[in-house]
Amino acid sequence: MEPELILVNPWIYDFAAYDMWAKPLGLLYIAGYLRECGFKIHMIDCLEVHHPGMKDISSTAPPVRRSYGTGKFWREKVAKPSPLKHVHRSYSRYGITRQLFINELKKIKNPSAILVTSLMTYWYPGVRDAITLAKQIHPDVPLILGGIYARLCPEHAKKFSGADRVVSEGSLNGLSSLQNIIGQAGILLPKKTPLTWELPYPAFDLLHRLEYVCITTSTGCPYNCKYCASRFLNPVLYRRKPDQIVDEIRYWHSDYGIRDFAFYDDALLVDSGRHMDIILNELIRLDMDLRFHTPNALHVREITPDMAKMLHVAGFRTIRLGFETSDIKQHYDLDGKVSEGEFENAVQNLRDAGFEKKEIGAYILMGLPQQSVASVKNSIKTVGKSGATPYLAEYSPLPHTPLWEKAIEHSSYDLVSEPLFHNNTLLPCWDEKKRDRVPDLKRMVREIRQMD
Ligand code: SF4
Repeated sequence: MEPELILVNPWIYDFAAYDMWAKPLGLLYIAGYLRECGFKIHMIDCLEVHHPGMKDISSTAPPVRRSYGTGKFWREKVAKPSPLKHVHRSYSRYGITRQLFINELKKIKNPSAILVTSLMTYWYPGVRDAITLAKQIHPDVPLILGGIYARLCPEHAKKFSGADRVVSEGSLNGLSSLQNIIGQAGILLPKKTPLTWELPYPAFDLLHRLEYVCITTSTGCPYNCKYCASRFLNPVLYRRKPDQIVDEIRYWHSDYGIRDFAFYDDALLVDSGRHMDIILNELIRLDMDLRFHTPNALHVREITPDMAKMLHVAGFRTIRLGFETSDIKQHYDLDGKVSEGEFENAVQNLRDAGFEKKEIGAYILMGLPQQSVASVKNSIKTVGKSGATPYLAEYSPLPHTPLWEKAIEHSSYDLVSEPLFHNNTLLPCWDEKKRDRVPDLKRMVREIRQMD
């Protein structure tokens, strides 16, 4: 019998969470790779909305689902951790029940190792909870923690997560340290760490009732925005070959009936002549009646009239733009990715191509150190006038980003020792006076959304 591994995507603990095509893509890639190496993989995704076990175990109504596979998660209110006691909002564990998680862990009698991933730094209570339970059920099994929290806050993770090993070098590089642990299982992993494009498809088939699939055509980003950890997490820009992407989309559609695909790229349209143009033309030619979504923002300067037309004809239905602010000086200081007039042109091109206002969302950053409320207001107005829909994106300070030091300087919270304070709901780099104005800003956004 082949040796078994348990792979875990832990719960989210937060004030709010929403499933905008949220799947643990990195973990699913690792699952696909380790399966190909000869392991039997047991995937436990604590965020699975369609886990069949929830029907028997949960007394609450199933979460409301919306269009294209998005919607709410299962949710249970829990006590706030003491550093967050002052926040007047309820705090929840999002995902399946703890009992169902325990039941799933008990089904696997003799795993060789348990691999746990992590995402936002301030969601570590979910990571710790999953690890504590896994250790109770399988006390002698090595447990390895990877993912974004492990990479951005390795010292915190080593101290508080309960994992036997914290992999802070990146998921794929981390596979080599996995070899030492699972060596006893009798499987020799290939010596060479696989490159992204050499990996088998992510193992979405291990999840229950797939509504959509997430695709990444590349890793990394040529920009180095001061508030973003992309450069730290993926320092080199790698692109898969266009025909590989199209083949993967065809595979999920023909074998699993998937119609909705969410692109996870950080720089999907950059250098499109050699990459995305080819993919889009082929998707248009194949005419599979699919729908595509870009929850990670697109770069506005890449939305030419031709690109907008191709996106529309190919079936893109959810466009998100990385607008961030209407303050061009702030762009100059922070990211250099939007110049005067580029945002308005991009929206006009999308509208001319046939996209409706509700299909074009523009992210507006709120809560940056030294950012004024008036600047956010102006940005909301600019988006409203342009014919797109504003989305406020609350800033979360992240270690290893160029803005980190400034964030520490401008926050009344101890960002360094407590990742819970990175939570964007807190707007940790704004003072009380600015935070009091947030309801006004949210009202402005609502009003624009309701207008035709
Ligand atoms: S914010 Fe977007 S454009 Fe900027 S570095 Fe991150 S991924 Fe790249």
